[in-house]
Amino acid sequence: MNKLILATTFMALSLVACKQGEKKQSTEENSDFVWQIDRFADLEILRYQVPEFDKLSVKQKTLVYYLNQAALCGRDILFDQNYRHNLCIRKTLETIYTHYKGDKSSESWKNFETYLKRIWFSNGIHHHYSTDKFQPEFSEGYFKQLLADISDKDLPIQKNETRAVFIDKITTILFDPEVDSKRVNLNPESDIIASSANNYYEDVSQEEADEFYHNQYEKSKNKNLSFGLNSKLIKEKGVVKEQVYKIGGLYSAAIEKIVYWLQKAQTVAENEKQKETIEHLIEYYKTGDLEQFDKYNIAWVEDTASKVDFVNGFIEVYGDAAGRKASWESIVNFRDEDATKRTTIISDNAQWFEDHSPIDSKYKKEKTKGVSAKVITIAMLGGDCYPATPIGINLPNSAWIRKMYGSKSVTLENICYAYDKATINSGALNEFAYNQQEIDRSRKYGYISSNLHTDLHECLGHGSGITMPNVKDDDLKNYYSTIEEARADLFALYYMMSSKVTDLKLLPTLEAAKAEYDSYIRNGLMTQLKRIELGKNLEEAHMRNRQLIAKWVYEKGKPSNVIQKITRDSKTYFVINDYKKLRTLFGALLKEIQRIKSEGDYTAARNLVENYGVIVDRKIHEEVIERYIKLNLPSYRGFLNPEYTPVYGKDSTIIDVKITYPNSYVEQMLKYSKQYSLLPTYN
Ligand code: ZN
Repeated sequence: MNKLILATTFMALSLVACKQGEKKQSTEENSDFVWQIDRFADLEILRYQVPEFDKLSVKQKTLVYYLNQAALCGRDILFDQNYRHNLCIRKTLETIYTHYKGDKSSESWKNFETYLKRIWFSNGIHHHYSTDKFQPEFSEGYFKQLLADISDKDLPIQKNETRAVFIDKITTILFDPEVDSKRVNLNPESDIIASSANNYYEDVSQEEADEFYHNQYEKSKNKNLSFGLNSKLIKEKGVVKEQVYKIGGLYSAAIEKIVYWLQKAQTVAENEKQKETIEHLIEYYKTGDLEQFDKYNIAWVEDTASKVDFVNGFIEVYGDAAGRKASWESIVNFRDEDATKRTTIISDNAQWFEDHSPIDSKYKKEKTKGVSAKVITIAMLGGDCYPATPIGINLPNSAWIRKMYGSKSVTLENICYAYDKATINSGALNEFAYNQQEIDRSRKYGYISSNLHTDLHECLGHGSGITMPNVKDDDLKNYYSTIEEARADLFALYYMMSSKVTDLKLLPTLEAAKAEYDSYIRNGLMTQLKRIELGKNLEEAHMRNRQLIAKWVYEKGKPSNVIQKITRDSKTYFVINDYKKLRTLFGALLKEIQRIKSEGDYTAARNLVENYGVIVDRKIHEEVIERYIKLNLPSYRGFLNPEYTPVYGKDSTIIDVKITYPNSYVEQMLKYSKQYSLLPTYN
């Protein structure tokens, strides 16, 4: 139901869902821009560039600036939503960090610093992805020693507690692994609400919460609302009730500031529609009324004209085990005209691609319509999108709005580009590519060809073909997703290497397509296994489909040696000998997979997936893991935001906005804590 595509581990290996304007970025490549800024625990901090910001009009830049401010004002909300002690812990550790005069070279201090960095990254003490509480790697004794140097007035000691009680509370939370060990507990054996450490419910059981929202739904005239989305559920004197996030309600101080900046943004909105969008959002923040939230979403979906766009609010529900309550997030962006043009070209030619597809003509669509997705440049990340961020967003989440008004699907182009820069330098390419030619080709074309793959997959692949009457998606049961993803991938792979692609100038040369073929085979047969535990088989649909395709073409191509397995210095490589024949094989498999989908042929789907897409080659798996361990790569990456400084004219109007790229993760976090600490320690 939620449409945020998370980057995280998926990004570490293969860049799939990104698009980009090649020309524009390559000039910056010559500069000495540093992408990788910090590295600690399982994390890496990158920077992203905001190309073409300078080309925006002053009014647009001003709009971006105001929306950016609104995006940063909700940081404390997210910390508090994630766990009720998070703000207290963050403030305590930051105070220690900024006051400390002792030995900064000691192992204990370094571990303390890492721990604080992890809290900033995860917006709290639970891992941003696994949601497990992470353990400090310094001792309780050391922590108490650090605290001893801080006076009472500098610590967030509450009115009803003594210093001793405060210290006891904090150390228990930090060091006792049993206390609030998981932020989101999805184990159906337990009370998923009571056993989750997040702050969306207090003293309320799963049953009580379900009953509360069942009643709310029954009583409401409007059944379409996202009940419970923007509130905390508590129990007071035995009565279950909601504390709504709004001005005058929960998180008021931060929401007031957000509204302050949104009101300013309204004055420089690009058009009436955008002004109306912001108006609904402000109204929603003032009242907490979910009907206003829906109005905001509808206006937002309808606004396709504005170049500058944004998301701001309580949006995604991953943080609540019951999938009801949304965490606060924001992004600010503007349309990437070059890259959006590319997706438009593809959509405009959808019929040609359909007509020339290698599938049986009875499964072809007579009239096809490509999906045109927008490609955006991110200007600011906030709340649950910072520092770990998605690479693609499809909103709103509300099903009835999607059905009636559609949705906006965007690719975060400059974020993808930064990921690519980091991965290219990671050493993985050099490790798994067979020779220098492959490496060079990948460095030169890997990014644009993988973007084109995604474009073709998303804009055309999924939408192509028809199913026979009476055939339902359900017919393929648990194999449906894998078959469907394989179909879209094969559509992309087949056309990558066609002259149509160079005719439409989607690729500069078919050499670029080779780079995608190389990486697809490498990934499908080897590198993606990095994410699987030894001894396990493939379960996730995308991973299954990639291995299915790669293994199938490898097997079928064996008689003519299309793909060769080579061992050199006891390392395995898969090398493509014949790209043309490989393309023919992709076409043949596409034909069969389309038939399976169109006919709902369950048995054939099962055989294909089980024979090619599930079982992991144990020897190769061990080798891949061993080779990756040596590379010492981070598991997750996050981003530092650029900084924007307004230049004021005589009558204190903004006449320009300057952008700079800071280079210290710690400085940015401390700065945000100083400037945007808008909430009390406990709410
Ligand atoms: Zn797909």
